[in-house]
Amino acid sequence: MKQVDTLFINAHILTMDEEFHQYPTGALVVDGDSILAVGDEKELVSKYQGKQIVDCGGKALMPGLINAHTHVPMTLVRGLADDLRLDVWLMGYMMPVEREFVSPDFVRLGTSIACAEMIRSGVTSFADMYYFEEDVAKATAAAGMRALCGQTVLKFPSPDARSFEESLAYARDFISRWKDHPLIVPAVSPHAPYTCTAEILKACADLALEFDVPIHTHISETALEVENMRNEQGMPVVPYIKKQGLLEAKVLAAHCVHIDEGEMRTFLHYNTGVAHNPSSNLKLASGAAPVKKMLDIGLNVGIGTDGPASNNDLDMFEEIRLAAFLAKNTSGDPTALPARTVLAMDTRIGAQAMHIGHLTGSLAPGKRADI
Ligand SMILES: [Zn+2]
Repeated sequence: MKQVDTLFINAHILTMDEEFHQYPTGALVVDGDSILAVGDEKELVSKYQGKQIVDCGGKALMPGLINAHTHVPMTLVRGLADDLRLDVWLMGYMMPVEREFVSPDFVRLGTSIACAEMIRSGVTSFADMYYFEEDVAKATAAAGMRALCGQTVLKFPSPDARSFEESLAYARDFISRWKDHPLIVPAVSPHAPYTCTAEILKACADLALEFDVPIHTHISETALEVENMRNEQGMPVVPYIKKQGLLEAKVLAAHCVHIDEGEMRTFLHYNTGVAHNPSSNLKLASGAAPVKKMLDIGLNVGIGTDGPASNNDLDMFEEIRLAAFLAKNTSGDPTALPARTVLAMDTRIGAQAMHIGHLTGSLAPGKRADI
């Protein structure tokens, strides 16, 4: 008998692996922070002896949910400005308020509140993008959650930098110190093509490639963004960021509401992940992302809440339900995005979209015990 830290028994296990294996009377073997084995209880209790045994009482045991796109410190600005279009909400309200009030203390407090809220709805990992991202990382690690933490870079002054050069220097310093953390994957976040210059996008791509860390950004969220890009650059958003070299890095692209099939195929070629944000897209009337099409083409599409100020909560079960319903309604096909698919989007596929599929997203030997 092999001695291990924890044996979870009497569980209905949903592994959410590629074959969707289930074990109705299952057990999960955990040693340290990782999964050692998963399978039938009878077989595993004959091989492993747990220092701690957790009887799951016949309940479901599954991978923790993944919030693939958010801005967690914004719990502190939730409900501040509702019922507005994105550009008015962002440029007219959020960014001025953030420049005035966002500090390391603000970020730590807002993150701690968000972690408590996400843990309540079964979330174990999330992808963030904000300012003072090292303080997001500290509060997240203290809560025991896993996160991809993207330091924002903008073409105008932000709460933690007077210029984009300062943001990039912050990002470099943050990434170099947190690169090997067991819970945090540091990243660089050029906010969006329309809030960055070509020079910034290129510099972010170089930084991400140098340290082999992801890029977390917003892409083609509104029709206006695409229209402006066509007018100014003569092309849609995805070819433009490709031209700047952004897709050479491991990109997580939030929203992608207004992208065409050619752009989806470009994403597939570069293994770009997508984060679908149904509540936020509905609230800001941005449109409905072509999620079914993206999945059919083979893209990894996760699900996110977006920031709590554009949702207004961090409840992933609500987001999963909305993702399923929205896809059915917009495609006119009630078989679009069945329960199994949306649950996979919020576990294994979401982790792959965030480029952390080797760490989490399914219950499999070698992965972290995010349950
Ligand atoms: Zn966002």
